[in-house]
Amino acid sequence: MIDICNPKTGELLSVSGALQKIQAAIRAVEEAEIVELKNAAGRVLSKSVYSPINIPYDKNAAMDGYAFSSADIIHEHSFTLKLSGTSWAGYPFTGELHKGQCLRVFTGAALPVQADSVVMQEHVRTDGQYVHFSAQTSAHQHIRKAGEDVQQGGLLCADSKKLTVYDLGLLASAGIQEVTVKRKINIAFLSTGDELTPLGQALESGKIYDSNRYLLNEFLRDASYEVTDLGIIADNKQLLQEKLMKAANQFDVIITTGGASVGDADYIQEVLASCGRISFWKLAIKPGKPLAFGRIGDCHFFGLPGNPVSVIVTFQQIVAPALRQLSGALATQPLRLKAICTTNLKKSPGRLEFQRGILAQNENGDFFVASSGDQGSNLLGSMSRSNCFIVLPAQCGGVRAGDTVLVEPFLLEMPAST
Ligand code: AMP
Ligand code: MG
Repeated sequence: MIDICNPKTGELLSVSGALQKIQAAIRAVEEAEIVELKNAAGRVLSKSVYSPINIPYDKNAAMDGYAFSSADIIHEHSFTLKLSGTSWAGYPFTGELHKGQCLRVFTGAALPVQADSVVMQEHVRTDGQYVHFSAQTSAHQHIRKAGEDVQQGGLLCADSKKLTVYDLGLLASAGIQEVTVKRKINIAFLSTGDELTPLGQALESGKIYDSNRYLLNEFLRDASYEVTDLGIIADNKQLLQEKLMKAANQFDVIITTGGASVGDADYIQEVLASCGRISFWKLAIKPGKPLAFGRIGDCHFFGLPGNPVSVIVTFQQIVAPALRQLSGALATQPLRLKAICTTNLKKSPGRLEFQRGILAQNENGDFFVASSGDQGSNLLGSMSRSNCFIVLPAQCGGVRAGDTVLVEPFLLEMPAST
């Protein structure tokens, strides 16, 4: 089943090829549960939601002012109407509005059927029970029609939508108290490597702290995911195999980091081949070439490289869309922007490359990006200084300052100008 890294040509699988294979291999979860609206942000709808009411529910005033019927307007002349009552937000005027009458209204106040126009209070003159309208008074202004946002029975949010905070606002405005969502997917992750030391322990020579689990723990913070940290596993084939086979029975997805390369202590690929199936291993991506994807039983397996920046890139580009698909959410694409690169960038043709950059915007809205420095896949310092990846196509052989490049922001902010 291994069809990449063709042993003869050493050819690597393209990122788009890998994404296609993953897409074909993953079936979205189907089980559903009901959750309260306040707990539904980030969950994936398993049933479309329709509005039981018109939104707005009633025709109402969009301004504080006076409501009247456009039939009372005298074309290009001022006119006077008699005040016949008040409609408040929450306490509507319940009578009828007759010819020659107007109503005092406040924003959000429901309006009687005859009132089709509102004029702002600043634009009229009042005199006891009479209101004088100017010759410039227009019909049909400052009125919110019933159902103008969503009509009764209209679609609020479609099946497979991953609910945002804005969706929650919309659903609440329709009085929806609970929604049916897809079950959470169960994800386990672990780090492999004899050199890894958990935080809180003194570092011995030859060892490093395990940063990858802190990255993955955050990347996996998602309302649709139930996440388990399985800790650090030593470079021991037997142990690794036992751990993965056990985890495969409990989780929908296992993500490992480290040990995916070709070193003597890199067992991931071997273990996956012996207890599961490898779909691909090694991608034309930089950083992050050694990336194994496959299955152990019914569990999807992602073996990410060890270096932290490779973990970041492969998680965001390969794993995140796969998890989204498994969770049943509609696919999305990252926003990529054009920016003028202000530094030279070194690159050899062959792999799709993600270089760390600092993206800024001038007062005209033009984007400029600079390299954030050394690009070694172990260097988290330059990652921490960056706010975007500069995305360089496989065939690109380097960038000169002044060239236009595509950038993928991972923070939607830049340092404030002082
Ligand atoms: P490997 O793929 O196991 O050969 O690891 C490649 C590089 O990534 C080595 O320098 C490892 O020490 C480093 N590495 C592996 N796992 C981690 C981790 N959890 N945190 C930080 N660095 C790691
Ligand atoms: Mg290792």
